[in-house]
Amino acid sequence: MKMTNELWGQVRQQLQETVGANNYSTWIEPLEFSDLRDGVATFLVPTHFIGDWVRRNFADQIKHLMHSAATPVSRIEFSLAKRAPVAQPKASKQIETAQDKTELPGAPLDRRLTFDRFVVGKPNELAHAAAKRVGEGGTVTFNPLFLYGGVGLGKTHLMHAIAHDLSISRPDLNVVYLSAEQFMYRFVQALRERKMMDFKEVFRSVDVLMVDDVQFIAGKDSTQEEFFHTFNALVDMNKQIIISGDRAPGEIKNLEERIKSRLQSGLVVDLHPTDYELRLGILQQKVDKYRTENSDLVLADGVLEFLAHRISTNVRVLEGALTRLFAFASLVGREITLELAQDCLADILRASARKITIDEIQRKVSEHYNIRLSDMIGPRRMRTLARPRQVAMYLSKQLTSRSLPEIGRSFGGRDHTTVMHGVRKIEELKMLDSQISDDLELLRRALEA
Ligand code: ADP
Ligand code: MG
Repeated sequence: MKMTNELWGQVRQQLQETVGANNYSTWIEPLEFSDLRDGVATFLVPTHFIGDWVRRNFADQIKHLMHSAATPVSRIEFSLAKRAPVAQPKASKQIETAQDKTELPGAPLDRRLTFDRFVVGKPNELAHAAAKRVGEGGTVTFNPLFLYGGVGLGKTHLMHAIAHDLSISRPDLNVVYLSAEQFMYRFVQALRERKMMDFKEVFRSVDVLMVDDVQFIAGKDSTQEEFFHTFNALVDMNKQIIISGDRAPGEIKNLEERIKSRLQSGLVVDLHPTDYELRLGILQQKVDKYRTENSDLVLADGVLEFLAHRISTNVRVLEGALTRLFAFASLVGREITLELAQDCLADILRASARKITIDEIQRKVSEHYNIRLSDMIGPRRMRTLARPRQVAMYLSKQLTSRSLPEIGRSFGGRDHTTVMHGVRKIEELKMLDSQISDDLELLRRALEA
């Protein structure tokens, strides 16, 4: 029997349960099924290292699961994907895809996603505080709590943490967590099986309802409709609702106006992209945790700082990098130097290298110095405009790979010697003028965030 992608989909899902969410997203998710011939299953991998690791650690499980799915496989091979798919998992599917078969409408909780393990920093402190409050299970003060932010910033983590806290603070409450996708799935299933009454009853008996990634139901009209009714019924009964989305309610396209306004009627808090300090804090926490079980991990100075600098804002990518690094460390059995880390994580680092554009730099710098963008690019030469312009030129040289003539063209067609002069001027001032060096540092961080 030919192994289809569908079968691999099944096997993957089972692996998710056996290997754990972290292993799954680090090792299994990057595998792309290629083909199955003569009992040899071939997968495409982004790096040799991942292939080696999977072969050592998961090959038997994979073979076993395939065997159980009536597709015996004698060997597993890996070849390098040409256009390396990034080991960057998509949405937060890892916990949610495991569908429970019981009557309860919720998805299982990941026991590791607790407040204890949530590192708090400037970008997420408000969301964290609000989530903590809801987790206390006191009187419902903001309803709904709407958490939003980009992928991998901790929305799902906070929701699970709330559920864990509630299970202690209010064991009497019926807390249900599920993704909007699962909500739809259950709704459609109820329609198909003509069990809408049951569906309504079950959802209306919930005390705390958490719906993750609500943007998923945008454009799905009957699901939205049902969601709206469920929502209203629960709010009317003063039950707590917690919703997450990838952007602010008002900005979700194809979401009915009345739902948007309902979502805005409680407390709306956003998780900002992580900054360097938060990333470093998260890395340190994970390393400490890992060290308690594997005392022999030795990381050279600067490795974590380097990762915090270079890896994008998505915490899941950061974790994936660390998991791989830990595995690598245990494999090579010696100190992980910066160079080894760079090697082992080359694909992730490459994918994370955010391309900063001159345009962004010009915008940020104009904003910072409160001048018009048109003046940044225009011909006027007074000091109040020339200095910010030079700062922008300097940052363009530092943070992009553009040449001096290219930079000149982006600044209203100036000559490359003008750019060079500007860059030198700022280099000089940086040493002498602490205001300028502070500005540069601030701008660089804002652009790299
Ligand atoms: P989202 O739902 O916003 O896409 P998740 O909650 O799934 O993101 O977070 C992605 C991963 O990053 C999870 O493994 C989570 O535990 C971790 N994570 C996110 N933010 C933090 C944080 N502040 N401290 C520790 N781990 C975090
Ligand atoms: Mg999520």
